[in-house]
Amino acid sequence: MTLRALWAVGIASLALGAFAQPAPAPAGAKAPTAQAAAGSAPLPPGAAGAPAEAVPPPPPPITLPREVLQSAIGLREEALRSNLAFQLLESLTTEVGPRLAGTPGDLAAVAWSRRKFTELEFSNIRTPEVIVPQWVRGEASFDVLAPFPQNMVTLALGGSIGTPDAGIVAPIVMVRDVPALQALPEGAVRGKIVFFNGRMQRTRDGSGYGKAVRSRTEGPSIAASLGAIGVVIRSIGTSNNRIAHTGTLSYNISAPRIPAVAISNPDADNLERQGAQLNNGAAREVSVRLRVTARDLPQVRSANVIAEIPGTDLTQELVLIGAHLDSWDPSVGAQDDGAGVAIAMAAAKLVANMNPKPRRTIRVVLFANEEFGLSGANSYPADEGDASVDRHAFVLEADLGDGPVWKLSARVPERYWPVVDNAQKLVKSLGVELGDNEASGGADLGPLRRRGVPVLAPQLDATTYFDVHHTVNDTLAQVDPSHLQQSVAVFAIATYLAAMVDGPIPRLPVDPAAR
Ligand SMILES: [Zn+2]
Repeated sequence: MTLRALWAVGIASLALGAFAQPAPAPAGAKAPTAQAAAGSAPLPPGAAGAPAEAVPPPPPPITLPREVLQSAIGLREEALRSNLAFQLLESLTTEVGPRLAGTPGDLAAVAWSRRKFTELEFSNIRTPEVIVPQWVRGEASFDVLAPFPQNMVTLALGGSIGTPDAGIVAPIVMVRDVPALQALPEGAVRGKIVFFNGRMQRTRDGSGYGKAVRSRTEGPSIAASLGAIGVVIRSIGTSNNRIAHTGTLSYNISAPRIPAVAISNPDADNLERQGAQLNNGAAREVSVRLRVTARDLPQVRSANVIAEIPGTDLTQELVLIGAHLDSWDPSVGAQDDGAGVAIAMAAAKLVANMNPKPRRTIRVVLFANEEFGLSGANSYPADEGDASVDRHAFVLEADLGDGPVWKLSARVPERYWPVVDNAQKLVKSLGVELGDNEASGGADLGPLRRRGVPVLAPQLDATTYFDVHHTVNDTLAQVDPSHLQQSVAVFAIATYLAAMVDGPIPRLPVDPAAR
């Protein structure tokens, strides 16, 4: 059955009666409670300083008006008919293309966003400055010299330094991951090139990425601290096509900077087989030449792009939908994160057209430079100021491709779980499961989440996302318009309910160490 057919069946059978009872927060989830929240949380009367047995029961779960839930059904249907998100994505990928932070494409994307927000009649459009690194990729090549000469498909990791013009030549030492490297005997990689060969697992929730990516982010500096002179990784991606996946590394200032590249999965397989020759004594070493012409230039200006749909009676409170505007440079970033940009803009626009109108202000933030260090996300709270951060009632982010959304999770005060539960009931017919109350929501939301801002987290299906992520193949051809429509429907409904529920919304316990 196609996804579309599945929706049609579900849409016909969804009855409003399903909303009559607010469901409790999911069993087993360590749902943060309003009482545990710091600062602005409304404590029950008499709770402060009273003996434990005198604490009254927590306030009952909030309810959403039937009128709101009824119009949300219309919002879902409208989103499933709308082509707005795909049109925006087509425009961004055609008229702007690659938009690596610090490049002319990045600035063109800021101008594009301003133009589109204006055309779509958003208010308070602004582009606060964000300073971003400027890294020039140059060229990279990776050749096996022995035992069996081969040229391999490679990309420099983002931020890598260059090599001397002639490249560097050294034997490789193959390890699975960082712990395996650290378990090697003293001196094992001195003067050598470390090959991180761990393979990323394909999963629906994208968790395989988090497990594999340490080789890319921390691997180069850890290898350097052990005396290695270069790093090559198996691409952090699930494609078996001969394409390399780039992505940023993170040099640690305590270790020398060494060049680092990724090779495609099939090339990594080949290199692994060549390494097997050492075991049977057919070869003495696997030696390679690594050449990179990347370099750093001075930091430059970029910008976050912010636009709003003003609310009615709760206009000072915000529901933020975020995505990141920058992309990697080998392609147009259709999935990462053009899709998220399109989902955020289209969902906000659909909510703007609702009747009743959204009570809270809907704010779309297209963050600068997520890929190369979260520059926009990190500067956003400081730019806005503490008082403004407290205005954020709920935040959402789309940064895992075009979808579809398969689960609706959250991190909200327990009393507000009905926002999540009702939203999920409205999109259950689109194949969306109810998740837990421990979601993170995404990288660009980190600085807000760490300050206790509640998060709604529609989870995009990442099963095939990492086939194209950070590759030359992240193009519009990889985007399914019906997935985009379904994702917009879920984001729009979650946003609308978040904009309509009574407040004030308490903060969650502040955890500066949280992801
Ligand atoms: Zn992304």
